[in-house]
Amino acid sequence: MLNIVLFGPPGAGKGTQSEKIIAKYHLSHLSTGDLFRKHLGEGTDLGRLAKKYMDEGRLVPDEVVIGMVEDKITNSKDANGFIFDGFPRTVAQAEALDKLMRNNKLEISGMIALDVEEKILKERIRERGKTSGRTDDQDESKIETRIRVYLDETLPVAAYYEQQGKFTKINGVGTIEDIFGDIEKVIDKF
Ligand code: ADP
Repeated sequence: MLNIVLFGPPGAGKGTQSEKIIAKYHLSHLSTGDLFRKHLGEGTDLGRLAKKYMDEGRLVPDEVVIGMVEDKITNSKDANGFIFDGFPRTVAQAEALDKLMRNNKLEISGMIALDVEEKILKERIRERGKTSGRTDDQDESKIETRIRVYLDETLPVAAYYEQQGKFTKINGVGTIEDIFGDIEKVIDKF
């Protein structure tokens, strides 16, 4: 089984590359951002709770995120494996994920980090904002907040996987195909 953490700042291309990974390796997509947007669209309590954080570009509290992920993992037992996209975003989430995996007799194969410089990230997010309908993509201060939150709270997650010998960084700038080619090379060694 392949259980991959796809890592990187907002706008790094995690969603785009996830789709290609899923098509080739038949993994189940677990994007916490997508799950929250789904709850929001359906008007659930969880969606309402998450909205106030998402609207400000802040992180939804760990226990809320972890509960939602646990639900998804225990209800997708027949999957070939998972691609975790936008999760874990804090060290506490990474620790909770390890525990969850152990309880389900699963293991993280590795983390792949997409490396993209800040100037390009901002350009990509602004561009996506024109069509995504996401309010958090359309406001400079929200974009700034998300990048700052990434640097302060999420970046330490990379070190967490590095300590376990499970971290690979690849260049996230180039054509979608070239980047995917680099990702395939990493996955094929897992
Ligand atoms: P992006 O990668 O472009 O920031 P996402 O779709 O992954 O977008 O996430 C959108 C928002 O959803 C985040 O800014 C945050 O508020 C919330 N969110 C998503 N995943 C998590 C998570 N693992 N922990 C906390 N909040 C999250």
